[in-house]
Amino acid sequence: MPGVEDCVFCKIASGKLPGDIVYQDENVVAFKDIHPKAPVHILIIPRKHITSLVEITDEDLPLVAQMIRVANTIARQQGTGNAYKLVINTGGDAGQVVMHLHMHLLAGKKISTPV
Ligand code: 5GP
Ligand code: ZN
Repeated sequence: MPGVEDCVFCKIASGKLPGDIVYQDENVVAFKDIHPKAPVHILIIPRKHITSLVEITDEDLPLVAQMIRVANTIARQQGTGNAYKLVINTGGDAGQVVMHLHMHLLAGKKISTPV
């Protein structure tokens, strides 16, 4: 399992790797998925390295709420504020590939596509 130093999403959040960032604040960063599965496909992550939902503590709950609020803001900015899907794959068996907590925001015509 990659540590923080090897984590591609930590590197995007800190600017060490390029990312098409659409939103950022002190706690949350959002950027376009490199292989979009829908016309709008944005990944929303906490700056804090949390491996997955399994790892969150009570202390992290405001952060998760903030991620949802950011998703709502971005969906509105993208013109899809009334119809979007949020997906959090948790664990390899559920399709999680990148082990840094992330929420997929999917919107546009083919949002039924699973991720
Ligand atoms: P997961 O399957 O872990 O829920 O989703 C990981 C997502 O991250 C995939 O949709 C994949 O396309 C995306 N992804 C993986 N590496 C990169 C990257 O380096 N940059 C960006 N923008 N997206 C990535
Ligand atoms: Zn990370």
